[in-house]
Amino acid sequence: MVLSVFKSGDELFDQGVDLVKRKEFAKARRNFEKTVEKGGKAAALAGIYIDIIDACLDNNNPARYAKLASTLERTNDPFEFGLTEINPRKLAVECRLLAERMNIGRMQGSTAQALEEKGNRFLDVARKYQSQIGNDTIQINEIVGIQVNTGIKEALYIQAWGYESLAAGAVLSDPKKAAELLQNAYTCRKQLGEDGQKDLNLIKAYSKSVKCWICGRPSTGEGVHFLPMSSEVTPLMRGTDDDILKSAPEDYSSIYVCKPCYTSISRRSDEIAKQYHNLAMQEMRAMEARLQAEIRSVAAMSAIRR
Ligand SMILES: [Zn+2]
Repeated sequence: MVLSVFKSGDELFDQGVDLVKRKEFAKARRNFEKTVEKGGKAAALAGIYIDIIDACLDNNNPARYAKLASTLERTNDPFEFGLTEINPRKLAVECRLLAERMNIGRMQGSTAQALEEKGNRFLDVARKYQSQIGNDTIQINEIVGIQVNTGIKEALYIQAWGYESLAAGAVLSDPKKAAELLQNAYTCRKQLGEDGQKDLNLIKAYSKSVKCWICGRPSTGEGVHFLPMSSEVTPLMRGTDDDILKSAPEDYSSIYVCKPCYTSISRRSDEIAKQYHNLAMQEMRAMEARLQAEIRSVAAMSAIRR
């Protein structure tokens, strides 16, 4: 170990390269750091290796890929990492797209506007995967150990997320349009070999139209604009031709109620429940005070007797 102090930057670098081949990234990183400190002809490449290792050890962090892309963009010379032959410009493009895709995935916000923006940005980065990577396999995914796809396949996943996000944004104002957007997501999922059941379920729910049992207004979009509300529809009522009376799930264990009716009933019943809760609490506190007073008087009496 003492001898290693005197190793040249190039020797440390070669040792680091061996460590990378054995996938001992943390150890290799220390060697490359020292290589950079000592300078020498391998220092620039050691800097790239450090950024690649950082991405490998923290592969869910978009900032790692953005940094690696900037480092790679400074060189044109191909090099090896482990057993992988790397074209720096090509890998830089992949890193930029991966960072962008991850950052979009992290976008928060559940307003229609936020979801629409997220969806459109997903579709935008999907187009870039198609045009900039195409049928090539994405090398950075392979290097850092995340799911490896071709650019085309990656684009399909991202498109599916994009349409799903657009649908989630559209459903509050236009459930029919949301169902159409989900149809696109479903097509992507089928092309990826998935069953797309989640999308299908939502398409079915968003396309469904009923009349509200309480106000009689028509409503489209189950789970969003109308909901089942627990009830009991008697056989006599099930037998009529009235389409409002039929506005219930097949087992008639509930009735369909539009969101405004549903929320007004649940909010009012919450208020009533709260009033009763407060009354009960008041009673309990009064009872507790009476009991405390009794306990005190019993204790005082027994003290006098002693
Ligand atoms: Zn209603």
